[in-house]
Amino acid sequence: MRYVQIDTQSDPQSGTHPSSEKQKQLSELLATELRSIGIEDAHADEFGYVYATIPSNSDKNIPVICFCSHVDTATDCSGTNVKPLLHKDYNGEDIVLPDDATQIISIKDYPYLKQHIGHSIITASGHTLLGADDKAGVAIIMDLANYLVGHPEIKHGTAKLLFTPDEEIGEGTAKLNLQKLAADYAYTLDGGECGTLEDETFSADAVMITIHGVSAHPGYAKNKLVNALKIAAEILAALPKETLAPESTEKREGFIHPVRMEGLAEKASIEFIIRDFKTAALAKYEAQLKSIAVTVLSKYPTAYFDFEVQEQYRNMKEVLEKHPQVLTHASEAYKRAGLNAVNEPIRGGTDGSRLSFMGLPCPNLFTGMQAIHSKQEWIGVKDMEKAVEMLTHLLQVWAE
Ligand SMILES: [Zn+2]
Repeated sequence: MRYVQIDTQSDPQSGTHPSSEKQKQLSELLATELRSIGIEDAHADEFGYVYATIPSNSDKNIPVICFCSHVDTATDCSGTNVKPLLHKDYNGEDIVLPDDATQIISIKDYPYLKQHIGHSIITASGHTLLGADDKAGVAIIMDLANYLVGHPEIKHGTAKLLFTPDEEIGEGTAKLNLQKLAADYAYTLDGGECGTLEDETFSADAVMITIHGVSAHPGYAKNKLVNALKIAAEILAALPKETLAPESTEKREGFIHPVRMEGLAEKASIEFIIRDFKTAALAKYEAQLKSIAVTVLSKYPTAYFDFEVQEQYRNMKEVLEKHPQVLTHASEAYKRAGLNAVNEPIRGGTDGSRLSFMGLPCPNLFTGMQAIHSKQEWIGVKDMEKAVEMLTHLLQVWAE
């Protein structure tokens, strides 16, 4: 509840690292708190990353495990002056947030709340998001560190703690120093429902179609002018709607999604994001998109288009499959904590998908966070406690 009161919203426009200086306030606080419990090397660097080491207390040669969460909050909703509210012994009734009575958290909208009746939950007050995404992960890792320091009877290898800025704007690993981190495997604490174990993300490309029309004075444009805006509109109109669109797909289905269009009569561009769990499907969707553009442009022989594909990230499963112990050890830790691991694909990306392809295999573990990026964001305290318990098991499974 202290951490969420520090405004750490990232800023996609700034172009700096960290994208907003204020994130460092939390990073520095975390480093200071870690040092105060005896984790001597804890420090925040100039980019807002916190690195810390809990040394091994075992004679065995055990892989170095990193736990990671992000300090920034999403841009969808204000993160300024967050007032966290602790609802003890939640009674199952609707929670009307005090600063905005239209913000109501109810079991009807969030059936998962039912599992928290009789337990404590935390919400914001109605004006802001809560920031459980991902300060729940931060709190879990901090609590784990505190627990391990006080319980030397738990035998473990070297554990690295990592807090990153700018995850929400896709730059969480931009200035990460992997050599310095020196971990063999990692886990992000950035997932939802208790028991979920996220081991798959989308594979993702971006596509930019730039249409070059022919400009002419509109008063004298007959048989000359070719309007790039109208061609762009025809391309958009020709996209599949009942399939391959985010609004008509779920689960393991992929999509082609226009996210931005800009232009003038002379030249227009459309930006797409392309997503699927199978990397090979991206090329198929891109070919389909290109063929739409070719068909539309074939009616305008004096216009032409550029088609540019940019790789964004890849399904972490491709990496995790080569290191099956990362998931089997996690499943065993869930089991020892009394949970059944539910493997879930994420219809998006995580820092873990980038880390995995940077050479640090990294699935995503649960924290309990719900209704993220919204004013109704909430979290059950017992889920966070369970996550801490599960992590102590996880380190012991690796040690064994
Ligand atoms: Zn997150």
